[in-house]
Amino acid sequence: MIDLTNPIFHDEDAARAHLEEQRWPHGAECPHCGERHNVTKLEGKKHRKGLYQCNGCREQFSVTVGTVFERSRVPINKWVLATHLMAASKKGISAKQIERMLGVTYKTAWFMMHRIREAMAPSAKADGPLGGKGKTVESDETYVGGKGKNAKKGKPVPKKHAVVALVERGGEMRASHVPDVTAKTVRKVLFTQVRRSSTLNTDDSLLYYWMGRDFAKHASVNHSAKEYVSRDGKTHVNTAESFFAILKRGITGSFHSVSEQHLQRYASEFAFRWNTREANGFNDAERANAILKAAEGKRLTYRRTGDAQDA
Ligand SMILES: [Zn+2]
Repeated sequence: MIDLTNPIFHDEDAARAHLEEQRWPHGAECPHCGERHNVTKLEGKKHRKGLYQCNGCREQFSVTVGTVFERSRVPINKWVLATHLMAASKKGISAKQIERMLGVTYKTAWFMMHRIREAMAPSAKADGPLGGKGKTVESDETYVGGKGKNAKKGKPVPKKHAVVALVERGGEMRASHVPDVTAKTVRKVLFTQVRRSSTLNTDDSLLYYWMGRDFAKHASVNHSAKEYVSRDGKTHVNTAESFFAILKRGITGSFHSVSEQHLQRYASEFAFRWNTREANGFNDAERANAILKAAEGKRLTYRRTGDAQDA
């Protein structure tokens, strides 16, 4: 539950202080050179609020520098609110809804949400591969979009897009949008994101036949024979499937359709919420704060998407 009366959602100063607390739990840190101690807060009317001076490199900075919130005209409290709303919405929230709740234009809401999704995307540096010795990783794939009901009469049915989910049993998961479901493509996803010392669980798709041999163990359930869990209860891909159920409900319910270009971002958004779900010890506020923390260092990634205009 979000306490909407919390000043961090209405007051810029309170929101900035909140963001500073998340990003700099041990005090302000210069984003340019990493200086932690020799930093002065610039106060008084001459300065923009929240401005710091680094006495190491002489650069000035505020808490949004180097984050997905950098150089935005939207007040920080609206960023914090949008982040909390996205964190708390299990099936996702539409840009239309954010537009109404924040009092911003649709275009701004849309850009804000993509920036927040960027913060939710896994970072190669911080997040290593899944699994390992004695651990089980489920791999499964699904198709999203392409529902006939959204197609205009006489127009072709929109293309379906494939997503591969990798779930470490009792741990984290990753969701990857893939151009196709071929052994070559899926193999590449698996080999970069899963440790070979893991036990791999899949369905009986032939896709995994050869690549399964590269893992410590490969066990599969025979979906074509309606076997969903092995007799000993150890082999299944039910966790991956429950993730897909949420992703699909979200995409049809909140977004109606998702273009191929943006599918990876939605998949990462849902994976982030899954990894920070209640069963993993996060409440809504803690999940939101995890996004605010992750907003750092994603700015460059964001620029590469070519959306760094507006908002
Ligand atoms: Zn510095």
